[in-house]
Amino acid sequence: MTAAVFGATLFGDSAHLVRVETRMGRGLSRVIMVGMPDAATREARERLPAALARHDFSFPKGKVLFNLVPAQLPKRGLPLDLALAVSLLIQDRQLPKLKSSILFLAELDLQGRLRPPARGTLLASLAALEEQCSTVITAPESAQEAAIAPGIQAYGLVDLQEVKEFLRQASAFQPVQVAGPADLSGIQNPGRVAHSGNTTAASATHAQSPELRLDDLRGQSVAREAAAIAVAGRHSLLLQGPPGTGKSMLARRLPGLLPSLEQSVALQLAKVEALLGPVPAIPSMAPFRAPHTSVSAQALLGGGMPLRPGEIARAHGGILFLDELPEFTRPVLEGMRQPLEEKEVRLQRAREWATYPADVMLVATSNPCACGFVTHPKIPCRCTPNRLQTYRNRISGPLQDRFDLFVEMGPVGAEELQQDSTPPHDEDLHLQLEQTRAFQQEQQRQRGFALASMAEVDAIHSAGLEAAAATLLRQAATVIPLSGRGMLRCLRVARTAADLDCCPQIRASDMRKALSFRPLPVGQETATAPRHSPGQAWSRRKPASAAQSPPLAGD
Ligand SMILES: [Zn+2]
Repeated sequence: MTAAVFGATLFGDSAHLVRVETRMGRGLSRVIMVGMPDAATREARERLPAALARHDFSFPKGKVLFNLVPAQLPKRGLPLDLALAVSLLIQDRQLPKLKSSILFLAELDLQGRLRPPARGTLLASLAALEEQCSTVITAPESAQEAAIAPGIQAYGLVDLQEVKEFLRQASAFQPVQVAGPADLSGIQNPGRVAHSGNTTAASATHAQSPELRLDDLRGQSVAREAAAIAVAGRHSLLLQGPPGTGKSMLARRLPGLLPSLEQSVALQLAKVEALLGPVPAIPSMAPFRAPHTSVSAQALLGGGMPLRPGEIARAHGGILFLDELPEFTRPVLEGMRQPLEEKEVRLQRAREWATYPADVMLVATSNPCACGFVTHPKIPCRCTPNRLQTYRNRISGPLQDRFDLFVEMGPVGAEELQQDSTPPHDEDLHLQLEQTRAFQQEQQRQRGFALASMAEVDAIHSAGLEAAAATLLRQAATVIPLSGRGMLRCLRVARTAADLDCCPQIRASDMRKALSFRPLPVGQETATAPRHSPGQAWSRRKPASAAQSPPLAGD
């Protein structure tokens, strides 16, 4: 294959290389561009003559035809200026022919300087790899991002003069070195392209910070236990309780308990971010996205023209935190059901389609009623029965069913608030989670899964389930009652509870814990008999006898 001048275009969830061909002919001076260029690409016709003249190149007289291959793919999202200029100058013999294919990825200003793409650099660079094109020339600002793709030699050049020197003697230039993994907060630089007016900058920032310690939270031992299980198995968590009980405080401290991102997940996340703006380096820390309640379904799930990923894809590998869940609109809440189940978002708009990864740990908080005090032991609720029901109906049964862990948090007593801190302390919890992860990795070879949240019923059963635990689940299913999905979620949570003790078998105590964190189905809850914690609700039903005997036998 002959050496080609490549540019790139964004389509759906990835970039594709565009071969730029140029032909010159006699006739009136005019520039024709074919191959579905967008407005920004067509405008290069006006920019190129000025940019070339600035560096002592001449724009050829007569007819110039640019052909962008493949013709049926729209050209948009990535600048083709530099590729057009180089292709033209090679054809006009003002630049030497290429020895091997090169991806030229930059816009040109009127001074002939290279400007970085607003988004998509990493994706273009990955597309180049697929076409066996290993050299990328771009602006200095985007060279680092282009070099993230393994095996790519990226050069950050300042202007057309440097491009000319590079094409004459490439050995005089050094490719940029890839920077080490970075914190995702680095991605959120002020220069990025805003993607949604619905997500406020403050609400969407990374919450992972060394100052946020779980020790700051007093009391709430049931919620802490649920948090440990949620993090250990990447389970979804719904925290409910009156205002001021520490629901958001707890949720915002969860990212600190998550491990660093695996390399493959980090690259998937970087690709999602690259669709929205510059990515300075591969992220190392799990993302934490907290969209505001006013977020639209499009901003949360992705969409628009051209398609862009939403908050759920940007939380891939990390936490999607929905504070005040019932306040989100119904299209947002219902739209999340498919991605939560399938761990990816599939979008189709007109002639464009995209699949974004969305393996998120969903953490949400909710007040028990509109005024917030229906479960408060001292403050009376001011909601009418109608208003109470309307509020509860905002989270549909199917959505509620998608939470693995449900915790009702009550107010913390004055005594507990005055204590130094509530065990387990952050250091102990970190140690326990590390041991749990090591155990899960070790068990993966035998049982076929590391995290229980990814496992199916059969796999969990064959990994080890004590008879007492199985009986307990069967009995509970008739009392609560549990849907098929609910039973699977119980099994998964019980598996993670056993993992936290590095126990290969699911014991009855693990199952009891898992059942205590199941939400009661809509309709079974009553305003007059609130549960301060589901653990208490279940402990009220079970006899105080030994853990080995099925505690629901007498119900
Ligand atoms: Zn109320």
